[in-house]
Amino acid sequence: MSRPESAAELSALYQDLILDHYRRPRNKGALENADTRVEMKNPLCGDEIALQVAFDGNTVSDLRFSGRGCSISQASASMMTQLVKGKEAEEIKAIGRRFRDLMLGDASAAGEKELGQLRALSGVARFPARVKCALLAWNALETALAERST
Ligand code: ZN
Repeated sequence: MSRPESAAELSALYQDLILDHYRRPRNKGALENADTRVEMKNPLCGDEIALQVAFDGNTVSDLRFSGRGCSISQASASMMTQLVKGKEAEEIKAIGRRFRDLMLGDASAAGEKELGQLRALSGVARFPARVKCALLAWNALETALAERST
């Protein structure tokens, strides 16, 4: 096994990761005892996400999503749920801000390990029409966090 070197190889790896999350989404389904439920739609692409979140104090103790749409929207939701589960609201908001930066073309964010597998979506920044797909789940999560804090 050699390490991937070329941009094309990296891009192929990222593509595999996105498709893997799309085909075998993590944390998909209904969450019993959820504290908050938020639905979001991206009419440009037809993506839908419903996010259920359970809190323990300021910590997201569990979350699940349901939805349908393009591979980017669903893979992004799957990756997000894996990454933020067990984290505190402030840390999640910071990750969300950096992911937004990444989607808006800030290449430095692509090197930050805090973004975990979400970095696989860095190529989406080159396709502005798809950025809304990638951010849909994050919009839902940020709405859930905002509702929690009021
Ligand atoms: Zn989409």
